[in-house]
Amino acid sequence: MSALEAPVTALKGIGEALAAKLVRLGVASVADLLFHLPLRYQDRTHVTPIATLRAGLEAVVEGEVAASEVVQGRRRSLLVRLRDGSGILSLRFFHFSPAQQQQFRPGTRVRAFGEARAGATGLELYHPEYRLLGGAAPPVEDHLTPIYPTTEGLHQSRLRALVEQALAQLDDDPQALPDWLPEALRARFDLPELHHCLAVLHRPPPDIDPELLASGRHPASRRLALEELLAHHLSLREVRLRIQADGAPALPAGRGLQARFLTQLPFSLTGAQRRVLDEIAADLARTTPMLRLVQGDVGSGKTVVAAMAALAAIAGDCQAAMMAPTEILAEQHYRTFQAWFAPLGIEVAWLSGKLKGKVRLDAKAAILDGRARMVVGTHALFQGDVHFQRLGLAIIDEQHRFGVHQRLALREKGEAGGLTPHQLVMTATPIPRTLAMSAYADLDVSVIDELPPGRTPVTTVAVPDERRPEVVARIRHACAEGRQAYWVCTLIEESEVLQCQAAEATRDELAEALPELAIGLVHGRMKATEKAAVMDAFKAGELDLLVATTVIEVGVDVPNASLMIIENPERLGLSQLHQLRGRVGRGSTESYCVLLYHGPLSAHSRERLSVMRETTDGFRIAEKDLELRGPGEVLGTRQTGLAQMKIADLERDADLLERVASLADALLASRPEASRPLIRRWLGEEAGRYGQV
Ligand code: ADP
Ligand code: MG
Repeated sequence: MSALEAPVTALKGIGEALAAKLVRLGVASVADLLFHLPLRYQDRTHVTPIATLRAGLEAVVEGEVAASEVVQGRRRSLLVRLRDGSGILSLRFFHFSPAQQQQFRPGTRVRAFGEARAGATGLELYHPEYRLLGGAAPPVEDHLTPIYPTTEGLHQSRLRALVEQALAQLDDDPQALPDWLPEALRARFDLPELHHCLAVLHRPPPDIDPELLASGRHPASRRLALEELLAHHLSLREVRLRIQADGAPALPAGRGLQARFLTQLPFSLTGAQRRVLDEIAADLARTTPMLRLVQGDVGSGKTVVAAMAALAAIAGDCQAAMMAPTEILAEQHYRTFQAWFAPLGIEVAWLSGKLKGKVRLDAKAAILDGRARMVVGTHALFQGDVHFQRLGLAIIDEQHRFGVHQRLALREKGEAGGLTPHQLVMTATPIPRTLAMSAYADLDVSVIDELPPGRTPVTTVAVPDERRPEVVARIRHACAEGRQAYWVCTLIEESEVLQCQAAEATRDELAEALPELAIGLVHGRMKATEKAAVMDAFKAGELDLLVATTVIEVGVDVPNASLMIIENPERLGLSQLHQLRGRVGRGSTESYCVLLYHGPLSAHSRERLSVMRETTDGFRIAEKDLELRGPGEVLGTRQTGLAQMKIADLERDADLLERVASLADALLASRPEASRPLIRRWLGEEAGRYGQV
């Protein structure tokens, strides 16, 4: 073990108490201190003439005390007037001792550091750090002063001294912290050397570009950010390798079952669905576990693809499980699968967190003894008390709602049977390719890039809420013609309670304005059975208008609904709007989406709504979303652990993400042994866990 890998307690003056504080900062080893980077810097490398100071600037000034007095303002304070050749300013102390008062005799030379503010006497430094100068002035700092993120009870100067100790150890033994990126690779990707980066960031030279440094765009920061992204990427690849080292049941296409299923479907598959199914079939036929992401726009028909894959598992004498992120979506899938599979003699089980008592026990028993060949549910499927007889395929719908760990947890479910299940992950969030390669490095990607025929594109209009009566008239008109409509309520507050209340109020108001219509309401606080009853009634055409919170966002399928009103669309992200809008335009009638906004709109909101008006292409919308909100938001924060990064910032470093996959390829080709230590360096213990789940 190198000295840098030692726990921080190996450093001078660090006991258990201090070590515990450091742990709060994510610092356990001496090397961790090196990667604990400053938040910002102070420039104490030169003395600033008083005349050139501006409010808001932090600076070192030096001068002679012209006068000092205790003044009675709103608060009593000690005011010291300090003069240099260029001008005069005040140092102001609200807390001061009599001894301090004595120090500032006229003529005394003082050097002070602080932030200049516009005060009662002109520019003032409040509670500056200062020292009295005797004879010759001591030299100023030779590099910028780092300000580290710290924690309660750990003083900045203490932390700084600890980092200095770690840097000194590194200077003594540069080999102790290897640069895992070989020189040839650094040259090719134009990356500075690791030690140089750390030195620059902990002790920036005075002539460094301060803007570049502050914005995190200095080559030294960029190199570390790239290395961190690389480590995450490598860990995902590692996960993939470990999973694929296990055996999976070979599931050749279950021709008979699948063919019977297809003949009972009221439509034939699109070319894109068939192509993706071929890719899946090839994976399933192998004895290494499939790890595949199917990306397909809202309404592209991912559920049928999932069903076909499930049938391959079932024909191969295994069980298949499908997990969806919300109760309402999971339940809809359950009913779809039941309708599809019951005629084939396949028992479908349902499991959700809300399922209790005997029903739950029965479901679990059917899953364990293998009666249930197909299981649909929410993340309740992950729970420790759920055991499968022989899980061959795990399908995860709307992947963007789940984290990588949840996804990996499903793997364990097959292990009782001695196999690792194949995994099929489905998402409607189109992820630009380069991003997908980094964020989903553990998955192969298939794309359903074609919508089923007969869909009519949705016409989208933006209408200010003053014109609400017109919109209501439009609903009346559409429903009079036998069509159905959605009214979606959104609320800024995260509070589900408020959101549901708002939806109830809207329902009442619309019921009054449209007495001739049958109006239903669904929101997140209703019981699953209540929600299901309302959705069923809407699907059966017994309700004309469905008022809903954003719970209908994913997966609800009612082809006769051809009008959707989204209230306050400016509160939602583009991808979410796109998902919502995808609920209409599923039948053959021309469909409309009305974005009923509350003006005045910011330029940003206006731009987003106009994107929605201009295109229904999910891919373009996702790209625009990425541009406007950044990848962190688009992918969802829980995504791949990419949100918990130390240095990299997905928004700022989006362009680095694009280089990660090729950098990883190059590294694995030239120095494969670097992968593990890099993962450990950046993900720490986490890395171990990734592999185990
Ligand atoms: P998503 O990809 O958003 O999950 P779904 O699987 O819910 O889409 O499919 C949307 C609708 O399109 C469903 O009613 C489904 O039955 C129908 N559908 C799927 N594939 C086809 C097809 N090839 N032809 C016609 N309709 C289809
Ligand atoms: Mg779906």
